[in-house]
Amino acid sequence: MGELPTTASVGSDDGRGGLHMKVAVIGAGIGGLATAVALHRGGIEVRCFEQARVLAEVGAGITLAPNGLRVLRHLGLADALDGMGSPIANRVISLADGTEVANVPLVTDGSRSELVGMHRADLFEMLLSALPDDVLALDHRCTGFDQDDDAATVRFADGARHEAVVVIAADGIHSSLQRFVVPPAMPVHSGSTAYRGTLPSAAIGWPAGRFQLWMGPGRHFLVYPLRADQLVNYVGFVSTSEEARESWSAPGDPRDLAAAFAGFDETVVRIIDAIDSTFTWGLYDREPLPCWTAGRLALLGDAAHPMLPHAGQGANQALEDAVTVATLLARADRATVPRALARYAEIRQPRTARLQQSSRSNGSRFDGGGGPGGPPVPDDTGWIHDHDAVAVAEEQAAALGRP
Ligand code: FAD
Repeated sequence: MGELPTTASVGSDDGRGGLHMKVAVIGAGIGGLATAVALHRGGIEVRCFEQARVLAEVGAGITLAPNGLRVLRHLGLADALDGMGSPIANRVISLADGTEVANVPLVTDGSRSELVGMHRADLFEMLLSALPDDVLALDHRCTGFDQDDDAATVRFADGARHEAVVVIAADGIHSSLQRFVVPPAMPVHSGSTAYRGTLPSAAIGWPAGRFQLWMGPGRHFLVYPLRADQLVNYVGFVSTSEEARESWSAPGDPRDLAAAFAGFDETVVRIIDAIDSTFTWGLYDREPLPCWTAGRLALLGDAAHPMLPHAGQGANQALEDAVTVATLLARADRATVPRALARYAEIRQPRTARLQQSSRSNGSRFDGGGGPGGPPVPDDTGWIHDHDAVAVAEEQAAALGRP
């Protein structure tokens, strides 16, 4: 991804009296950018402040499920998805030695069982392309927040301030704004580290559209295509007694990854052999938060509901959050903002809390090596994938306007 210009100034307000609906989004991850796009499409003025000087995404992929794809299409990104995504045609689950325990053909035509592999950088590019240039302000690390009955103010590390009617904290698992809503939540270490990266599909002869997961005791490995099948994303999840640093991109040693998966199916060994460099993530989540909003401030994405990656839903849920909060705010005015944000949280909390729990259970299943202890593949994904966050938000927004 190319470098984006740093926005030097934060921009001034038009005075308290003239402050119309203006939203400040803190954090330009998938959640923050999607929120900015949804608000902008709804005609709401939005600025998105990101601490990084350059928006350079890690070389890794995510899977977009029907519930997240529905949101992206609603945001007008269907064509970009078709060009940049990799529809998954087969979801294969294997034991460590390669024995298949499931081989599920998926539909790639936009219906409910669709799954699309996407490079994170491509998703960023897609979301950015839907925003005017002046929405994103890089090199703005938010350090403080205040509010009164009329407005909210965010403060930045360089002393700059920005006033808005609403502040959305989409600043990730280490959210600096969470403390203005609830006491900071304690990290829960999953006991697992992820090694993650991409490879050219041709280098390992990976078949187009194939998703494969190998389950072994205390570890599992998965591979799926990205960028119209030109690349594959691999992730190796390994149990560890060490509490690895909770980080997005610490360099890892491919030799450790190879040692962890020695004796696995020859395909896994061959893929790891082709890896020159890798990144590691210490996997943590949090218990569901009791509260997501305080007046004009709302948490969103990983700042609200960090979850382990084993249901592939963290980013998909951030997309659902984005469209929900934007739809409700489109019906709100300065006075009713706290009510609209509270409704957003009421809608989103039960679903994301259930997914935080499901993500933990899936991890245990996958690391169970396919042995006793329940079905290796979750079979109750309907409640996740069939959910239409746009329709729910529109229904709730209409109800908000009624006495
Ligand atoms: P983040 O991506 O963390 O973005 C937060 C942003 O806020 C960052 O840009 C940060 O720099 C910025 N920021 C932080 N503090 C400040 C501040 N004080 N001021 C200004 N800016 C700030 N999800 C899926 O849906 N499907 C998958 O297949 C999937 N696979 C995954 C695999 C792994 C190994 C991992 C670790 C995660 C996976 N996820 C997946 C989860 C997904 O990546 C996250 O849930 C999602 O990226 C969260 O997005 P976010 O915008 O909420 O937070």
